[in-house]
Amino acid sequence: MIPRLDRREWPVPPLTRFAPSPTGYLHLGHVVNAIYVWGVAKALHGRVRLRIEDHDRIRSRPHYERALLEDLDWLGSVPDEGREPVDRQSDRPQAYEDALHRLTREHHVYVCRCSRKDIGSARYDGRCRDLRLDDAAHCGLRLAIAPGREHIEDLLLGPLDQEPAEQCGDLLLRDRDGHWTYQLAVVVDDMQQDITLVIRGEDLVSSTGRQVRLGRMLGRPEPPRYLHHPLIMGAGGEKLSKAARDTGIRELRAQGLSAADVIGRAAAAVGLIPSARPVPASEVSSLF
Ligand SMILES: [Zn+2]
Repeated sequence: MIPRLDRREWPVPPLTRFAPSPTGYLHLGHVVNAIYVWGVAKALHGRVRLRIEDHDRIRSRPHYERALLEDLDWLGSVPDEGREPVDRQSDRPQAYEDALHRLTREHHVYVCRCSRKDIGSARYDGRCRDLRLDDAAHCGLRLAIAPGREHIEDLLLGPLDQEPAEQCGDLLLRDRDGHWTYQLAVVVDDMQQDITLVIRGEDLVSSTGRQVRLGRMLGRPEPPRYLHHPLIMGAGGEKLSKAARDTGIRELRAQGLSAADVIGRAAAAVGLIPSARPVPASEVSSLF
């Protein structure tokens, strides 16, 4: 799927980001995201920021970070920002503290003692909202989300209407182990780093309304624009995992594929080109 890009909509060229988590090695799914991020940014004369999303302090590993920087270099994907020095979420806990304080001051935050097991995969029903629990060990912090819709014009999917209070209920901001959640970290980062275009896989579409809302509550009146792109699926229709050996960049490299071969294979897998052919990183903008 190729988005129809209109440069006239971007009098100020966008700043987007490539934001991998150092919890595994890069695979073809990341390359798809890199193609959209660099390709669309360059086609709109914009810039790309690299951000290491290591908010998950339990699963993040320095050796995965080193490997993903190395693989990005090998692919030829050079970020305009966030590389020297490397931009990491774990280096700026104060930004998340400040955001939490702001929301707390405005009475949007409450203590939740529920475990993941208590809630399951369902929407959180707000059972702790009116309990006025004290912040204690092994308690999470949640954002009370008021009813209301969020409208998003996705550059690829078109208009989206989402109702965060109905979809997910009150968002977890800090988990029971004291770690910042993806939702809080990503909204704070996008806001602080003036990201104006978020390009990511369509598995994150449902997070968009809640992130727009959280940004608004943190004082960002105008959300970034969004583009959610297709994902490469495994043979069984499942999302590619970091453990998938046949699509790991390191494995493909070891098999003798060039960076252009890998990029071409990823581009073909999501229909950006009719069939795989070598595409150098310097030419990904020509796909859009
Ligand atoms: Zn609870």
